[in-house]
Amino acid sequence: MDFIQLAVPFFILAMVLELIYGIVRRRNTYRLNDAFSSLMLGILSQARKFIVLGVGGWIFAWAATATAIPQWPVDTPLTWVSAFVLYDLCYYWQHRLGHERQILWAAHVAHHQSEDYNLSTALRQTSTGFLLGWVFYLPLFVLGVPAEVVVTVGALNLIYQFWVHTQHIPELGWLEWVFVTPSNHRVHHAQNDCYLDRNYGGVFIIWDRIFGSYQRELADTPCIYGIRGPIKSWDPVVALTHIYRDMFNDMVRTRSGWDRLRVLWARTGWQPPDVRLRWPREKSDLSQFSRFDPEISLARQWLGGIQLLGATVFLVWGQLTPLPDSAYWVWWLVLLWTGVATAGWLQGKSYRTMLLLDGPRLVVIAVVAALVPLNPAAFTFAWLWLGMSFLILAWEHRAAVRDEPVSA
Ligand SMILES: [Zn+2]
Ligand SMILES: [Zn+2]
Repeated sequence: MDFIQLAVPFFILAMVLELIYGIVRRRNTYRLNDAFSSLMLGILSQARKFIVLGVGGWIFAWAATATAIPQWPVDTPLTWVSAFVLYDLCYYWQHRLGHERQILWAAHVAHHQSEDYNLSTALRQTSTGFLLGWVFYLPLFVLGVPAEVVVTVGALNLIYQFWVHTQHIPELGWLEWVFVTPSNHRVHHAQNDCYLDRNYGGVFIIWDRIFGSYQRELADTPCIYGIRGPIKSWDPVVALTHIYRDMFNDMVRTRSGWDRLRVLWARTGWQPPDVRLRWPREKSDLSQFSRFDPEISLARQWLGGIQLLGATVFLVWGQLTPLPDSAYWVWWLVLLWTGVATAGWLQGKSYRTMLLLDGPRLVVIAVVAALVPLNPAAFTFAWLWLGMSFLILAWEHRAAVRDEPVSA
């Protein structure tokens, strides 16, 4: 059973409640553009599971049949409790190396680019973690924890982490000693020098206390969220690939064959010395920090909101509707296109560019909605959504024509 799918309605409800609470208390922590970017990465991460099976799942299934490791009994609470705790220990090391080694950081960075901190940040997940992340859970299989138990406690671990992504809950007394909490996880997402690379636990913070990576949230040092090499983009492709791109550039540019290989397992931020001289990647200066927040028209904001709603419904529809493999690829590509194009609107790309980038997408969706047999609810939603999208596009068109320089 996929607990993460089941949890989605509760995630949405909790985000709405957090938003309302923030507005009522005059401490709103949401921005549409940043929340769009985070949720789009969450949507793509969930959709990925339908087009590429996890490498780990395949290897574990093979390992379970090819080896004679005795399996733990599934029907005793001891199995579940032990597996839950041991899973979190594996998670700690996956997460810690996910920050410390750049090949792993390239995947995990997607969770950290948000310069806001709210429940939508929790859903900001990578789409490439499945490539290497499974390595850290091999000890569980060697010990004989059944695959179904690993998958279930893994999902519960991820669901637990949702609630800690909020600024509205203060320190929680003795719980700070044992569990990952909003306060100690805020530290994990902060880029201040004293908070950098701290608090890696998923459910239990005890691992950080044992292995020396714990840091308390300090009253005189407010968290500055985000990463030290900000991407200044809402584009999911940029978010998912920029560290791989940096590594690739370093590998191509260096003249040292050894350093070319070293890029692959070096510490995060390391560059070959000859490349560093000519193309240094400097960390941003936090004393000058301001969040990426391009100004855009009201029409574009509405378009962003409507596209996010559409992508969410389209994700759930695809998850619930059995489709042929090739159709899942089309479904995933439409979601990706929606993410990239909507990011363009939210980043203030020119109206002409956006018409070329996004116009064909809406036409393709209209053609698909007309050709694919849909149930009445999906049909009604699809056409209402398309109608809204085209209407807002017309609104933006009027503004673009009005603002266009006469000489152009
Ligand atoms: Zn992290
Ligand atoms: Zn987090």
